[in-house]
Order: sequence, then structure tokens, then C-alpha cells
Amino acid sequence: MPDFSSRMDRAKPSAIMAVAEKAKALKAAGKDIISFSIGVPNFLPGEHVYAAARDALAHDSGQYGSNRGAPALVDAFLKHIEAIGLTGYSAKNIATGVGAKHVIYNLCEALLDEGDTIAFPTPYWTSYVDIAEIVNAKIELLPCPASQHYKMTPEQLDATLAKKPRVFLFNNPSNPTGMVYSKEEISALADVIAKYPDTWIITDDIYNRMIFDGAGYHNFVHARPELKDRVIFIDSLSKTYGMPGWRVGFMAGPESVANAVTTMNSNHITNLPEITTAAAIAALTGPQDVPNAKVREFQDKRDQVMAVLDSIPGVVCPKPDGAFYVFPDISAYFGKSHDGKVVNNDIEFCNALLESKGVACVPGSAFGEPNALRISYTCPTPQLAPGMERIKAFFAEMQ
Ligand code: PMP
Repeated sequence: MPDFSSRMDRAKPSAIMAVAEKAKALKAAGKDIISFSIGVPNFLPGEHVYAAARDALAHDSGQYGSNRGAPALVDAFLKHIEAIGLTGYSAKNIATGVGAKHVIYNLCEALLDEGDTIAFPTPYWTSYVDIAEIVNAKIELLPCPASQHYKMTPEQLDATLAKKPRVFLFNNPSNPTGMVYSKEEISALADVIAKYPDTWIITDDIYNRMIFDGAGYHNFVHARPELKDRVIFIDSLSKTYGMPGWRVGFMAGPESVANAVTTMNSNHITNLPEITTAAAIAALTGPQDVPNAKVREFQDKRDQVMAVLDSIPGVVCPKPDGAFYVFPDISAYFGKSHDGKVVNNDIEFCNALLESKGVACVPGSAFGEPNALRISYTCPTPQLAPGMERIKAFFAEMQ
């Protein structure tokens, strides 16, 4: 048999899926498992979304669709982003994809030649590394540990952009930390970006509607509208609307970049399916009561999770203002043992926690921060308190 391409040496399956699969296998074997592993929102969209999908099925055009995205979908997305103050964009600035992941992949293919540098802060969403490796980019990381609330400082950004990476990839609110940058923080970072015109800025803000305590969503182009010629905003229906499997993502940015993503679409996918498109339009333009109620529910769950984590000695967990993750630093426990077995690192910690307490979390090293683990708290509400109590008991048993 001939070999695979060298690209396949660099392509890896998702580390998060591996934990989720292990938890599923234990559950199938009859173990009582509570999963805090995968980042799925765990709710379904409103009935109007399904009605729109059924209607599209009944009126199938039998044709291929637009590479950019159906005009009505693009229009719905334009209105959606206007509501968060991203104004002055038109259809030429928009492109769609099969989820935000696909849009980011297309952008990396469109903007990075092999060996070009893409820079991003750690902790990062795992797929950033996976995608950068497939396109054979050089990765430059900016470490942002718990001691700085997992947030990048303007000084760190300045030092990185001075090296002229081709792309800087930002994520706000953050997966895995739930951190949300304030207006002042975004403004200070935007001032740095303005100094370095040679770098494209991708801002992956798919959790922009999932922000708590009225903290507000802020974008570099709010702070400095002139950055619109280099800032590429990413959004998705997956989390906000409980539609991860429908696979709809978007970008808003310079016309040239939207055209490039559209060209990539014409080669990869041709178009988003008609049924998906109709469902997405209904989600974006229909009643917002389901997503709004979910944000309130996630805020309550965040409070419950934080109350337990704050009560565990030695665990350091900056309080998240958004998304549905917490990312406690557990490194004070490395070197201690549980059930007579030494736990040396985050991976051993998560394995021991899963095996002894049946709670699945993702090791921080999957996100470039091996001092931590990620808890995704979107499980059904009745599972949350028992899951957190098991985590607390696990820490208490370590010696
Ligand atoms: N960006 C971030 C930060 C994410 O957490 C995720 C999903 N886990 C994505 C992008 C991908 O979202 P989508 O389902 O739209 O591909």
C-alpha cells in the first residue's frame, strides 16, 4: 500500500473526544458516570427551528446553493451581529461554513503558507493546534496561567506581534477558561494591534452571547473601527442555539477574506444544505427565549460549580464570566496520592477521577495548560451537584 501524505502524520483526532469516548465506554459497561467532558450545550432549539427545517424539506429546490451562504442566511447573520454592535458590514464581508471549526480551517488555509507563524494564547481551544499543524504553520504560544486569570496582557501581545506572525488567533469568551475580556482590556489590546499592520487577527467569539452578570461583549473593532480591515470575527450557531450537530458557522471581516473563504467553500463543500440553512435562519431571526433562558441557567450552574471549587484548599480557579467551562488549576495536588496511587499530572488526575468517582473532565494539557483541568458544566441540572460533590470528595481523599 502507498503511504499517506505527510499531512496525515500531523493530523490527530480530538483529545476531548477521546475522554468523552472513554466515559461513554465506562457508562456502556454499567458504571455510574457523570460527564463534565465535552463542550456541548445540552439543549435543543425551539420548535420554530424544526418547523423551518421541515418546511425546507417539503420545498426542496433540488439545486446547489451559494458558496458564500444563502443570501437570506447571510442577511440574518448581518442582523445578528448588528445586535452586538458589529455594524457597517454587508453581504460581501460575510462567509459561512460547516461550523466555526470549518471556517477557522478555511481561514488557516487561506491566510497561512507552510512555515508561516500563527500565534495564540494558552490555554487555547484544542483544535487551534490541530488545524495549525495540518496546514504546517509554525505555532507561537503566549502562556497565560491562572495567576494572570488566564488572560493575555497588552505587553505579551506587543512582544508577540513585534515578531510579525502572519495570523494572531484570539478567543473571547474563552474555551476552556470561560474568561471574558472587559471593555478596557479589549481596548488596550486593540491599541497594540493597531501598531502592527502586518498581522491578520482572527477573533473566535462563538460564545459572545453567553456572558454573565451583564459583563458585556467587546470586540477589537468596537474599540478601533479602523481594524475592520484586518480583524476577522467568527461566530457559530452551535453553542448559542443548542445546534452543534447542525454545523453552521460564520465569519465577518474584510471582503477579500470573505471571498477567500467562499472560494475554499466552492472547493470543499459547495454550500451548506438547504434544510440546515432554513433552520439556521429560523434560529437567528425567531424567538430568542430558549437561548436567553439557557444563559441564565449556565450562570446559575457556574455559581454552583464555583462555590464547590472555592471550598477546596489549594485549587485556584479564576471565576469565569462566560461560556460554560471552568478551568481550575489543580497543580497543588500533583505528587499526592489517591487510593495509594501517586497522581503526577493532569492526565493521571483525570484518569484517577474517572476511574474512582466516575466523573469525566478533560486534562488541561489538551488546552496547552497542564496545571489545570476543564469542567464543562452543561450536564442535566440534577447531575451537577452530585458530580461536584464527587470531585470535592476526590480532592479530600488525596494525601
Ligand atoms: N471555537 C471554540 C472556542 C469552540 O469551543 C468551538 C467548539 N467547541 C468551536 C470554535 C467550533 O464550533 P463549531 O461547532 O461551530 O464548529
